[in-house]
Amino acid sequence: MKSHAVVQVGDRHLEMQELEVPRIGADEALLRVEACGLCGSDVEQFRGHFTQKGWVSYPLIPGHEPVGIIEEIGPEAARRWQCKAGDRVAVEPHISCGFCRRCLGGSYHLCKELAPPTGLTGYGFMPLDGGRGLWGGYAQYMHLQPRTVLHRVPTEMPRALASLYQSLAAGVRWAVQVPRTAIGDSILVLGCGQRGLGAVIAAREAGASTIIVTGLKTDRHKMDLALALGAQHAIVADEEDVVARVMAITRGHGVDVVLDVVPGAAHPTVQAVEVVRIGGTIVLAGLKGKDTKVALDTDRIVLNEITVHGVFSQGHAAYDQAIRLLAENRYDLGRLHTHSFGLERAEEAIRTLAGEQAGEHAISVSLEP
Ligand SMILES: [Zn+2]
Ligand SMILES: [Zn+2]
Repeated sequence: MKSHAVVQVGDRHLEMQELEVPRIGADEALLRVEACGLCGSDVEQFRGHFTQKGWVSYPLIPGHEPVGIIEEIGPEAARRWQCKAGDRVAVEPHISCGFCRRCLGGSYHLCKELAPPTGLTGYGFMPLDGGRGLWGGYAQYMHLQPRTVLHRVPTEMPRALASLYQSLAAGVRWAVQVPRTAIGDSILVLGCGQRGLGAVIAAREAGASTIIVTGLKTDRHKMDLALALGAQHAIVADEEDVVARVMAITRGHGVDVVLDVVPGAAHPTVQAVEVVRIGGTIVLAGLKGKDTKVALDTDRIVLNEITVHGVFSQGHAAYDQAIRLLAENRYDLGRLHTHSFGLERAEEAIRTLAGEQAGEHAISVSLEP
């Protein structure tokens, strides 16, 4: 059996290939990919930022947000995952060892044991010449290795909706589970991309009474969606004074929680320290790249007993809640999904998400093999 696959062979260079589908072992499975969501990491990976850091090597099949149908499953895997052929599942990208201190401490998503020194080991990031090769979601079939973590997805959920599970899980963990956002709380979400919007939904679900988002002038369509999903205020960060607006909205008290999902820019983190209330929590999720060295008012953090929490990735409990929210779909979540493409248009999909396609206002984009 063969699988069509999009193979990244170099920076900004994708190629369609026909690859042999390997036979599965007793503790493995084969996934028929229905949809694979894209996020900012797909854009960075396409541009070659991960090879420059030594995290990945070519050739590889990208795609770390896949959902699909179990085509074939070994008996041991079926027992372990409580799954059978024909079941629909979402796949966590992480592959962890299960034995290191991070794994045993519950932070399996931070396990580095299986990765090269600074590398990423997970679906969408492993090379074609390692093991089974079919490791990415930009393909008809994916090989699921024994340490994979799966989540059952209801079969009746539309594909486009199912492909949103990772950005929504990020919102659940970063905006609610980590800062313990509760009924009546106020939250400021800095950035209104997929993850910022996921945070708005999660905060609303948790009962937050005041949800404020920020975005740029060019993000108007995302801010409008944030307001439609339950945010009360949207601040245009490149036109308005974010700190002054937040302090006015909260009558000078500041917000209970600030979540910073803005990538590549450090000033939102500085603003977070200025607008969080005494005893409040700041969650930092946006990777700043070259702009990580910022002048933070650390005395304010000390004197106001502010909690600052870094978060990387989602985790099992967040995936479960995200899939539940998608299944219930009480907030018309299909509005988050704006574009889907076939495999042969993978590059166009990435460029659309990156905002490089004139006239397209993308929020969530998926590939449907
Ligand atoms: Zn992603
Ligand atoms: Zn581990």
